[in-house]
Amino acid sequence: MNSGAEALPSPPPLPPAKRYNAVLRLYDAPVHRDWAIWATLFWCFMSAAAIATDKEHRGLPPWLDTLLASIFFTLALGVLPVWVRLRRRRRRWQSIERRASGTVPADGRDAAEVRGSRPAPDSRAAGDATAVRDSTAVRDSPGDQPAPYSPPAPYGSPSSAVPHVAAVPRAPSGALARARDGLPHPVARALRTFQQAGTARDEYEAMLEAAEHLGVAVCVTAAALLQGDSREADAASDDSRPGHPDRPGTPLLAGIQRSCLSSGAMFGTWTRGLFALRETAAQNHLLLPGFSTALRSPADPSGARDIADDLDALRAERNRTAHGDRPVSQPEAALRLAEFRPLFEHAVDSALFLDGLPWLCTVSCEYRHRERDFRVAAHAVVGDHPIFERQTYAWPIPVANDTFYVLGPNGPVTLSPFLTHAFCEQCLQMEICYLSRVRGRSGDATVKSFNRGHDIVVPDLGNDIRSLR
Ligand SMILES: [Zn+2]
Repeated sequence: MNSGAEALPSPPPLPPAKRYNAVLRLYDAPVHRDWAIWATLFWCFMSAAAIATDKEHRGLPPWLDTLLASIFFTLALGVLPVWVRLRRRRRRWQSIERRASGTVPADGRDAAEVRGSRPAPDSRAAGDATAVRDSTAVRDSPGDQPAPYSPPAPYGSPSSAVPHVAAVPRAPSGALARARDGLPHPVARALRTFQQAGTARDEYEAMLEAAEHLGVAVCVTAAALLQGDSREADAASDDSRPGHPDRPGTPLLAGIQRSCLSSGAMFGTWTRGLFALRETAAQNHLLLPGFSTALRSPADPSGARDIADDLDALRAERNRTAHGDRPVSQPEAALRLAEFRPLFEHAVDSALFLDGLPWLCTVSCEYRHRERDFRVAAHAVVGDHPIFERQTYAWPIPVANDTFYVLGPNGPVTLSPFLTHAFCEQCLQMEICYLSRVRGRSGDATVKSFNRGHDIVVPDLGNDIRSLR
């Protein structure tokens, strides 16, 4: 997909993201960006200086008096507040997880959120997608190119998150390489980071991040296709009333909406969205091509693992690390990696059908009188290289510029409001972001960048999320 692009220069490295309680489980990494480390150092040196310069005699040698006072005040005023912060964070995380796993009230006011193999070449659904893609693309001319949170258990204990890892079928070799070439860019880039990690701990953390991006990509693609179908149905029936329980996309879209309107979309939002998609995908092969190969049908008696099971297990592991039980050594990281890597590779292999549903970021759209269609230039947001290939299409409908679309079986469908191009003031560049949370009762919404996880406020996006159906 990005052939010939290897010679292009790589972008400059970005500042490291903040990782909570990653240092001694008390301080955030990088430590210089955590106020608590500065507070601890302040009390250490301040108490030492105060006692050392005190003229009053206490019966102890001055050096011992200074040492004891420094240790006491550092622990009492520096470390103890940080430990309290860790406890409060854990309680808050547990509260969010419990609310996420709760049932939804009928009125939906305090709704807890639904948190959260590659098709065969002769697959009918995949064939449909490919055919549409080929028929709509204009050849470029040479000049116009759901489990509730449980406290972390000791590693290897019987309550470990995934007891059936051995039953996971191994993904065929080369699946990761094909995914880096054909999956949406945020996933492909995360896979590149995973494959290029230098240590077991880096590889472990990159795996969990890539798993979350994969869940977002699959859910967002399905949500866009379902929303597009719902809008077409609205236009055909001239029925704009919200809430259509018989629409195929209702469970997924309603879950995403509830999440954004309450505590925000998280990893669990997307894994639960995948569970909700099982039945939808089984009943709508043409609307969601390829999804039924990755998701087990509820009527399937085999009980084989699918991408929803895999990513849900990885979500539980990610939550375990976020709640303070991250690997403390490289050997432990390697052990956990060995346990979860088969699940991750199986999930990536299952998601390869997404290469038939490419994400596009539109550049321009012009009406052509003779052909009576629209000539659209767009970047294919596919593959792990940050510079995207430019392609041109002839579509019967106009599209907005600088907006993400997925090229589905029935043509382009907007990925808004699920996916946004927004300027990150911390990275000082445009970022691909996914929807995260609606800010109170305002029309603004917060989106999260795939790249660094930064939160960015987008005006008016909240109204789009409220109107999802
Ligand atoms: Zn950023």
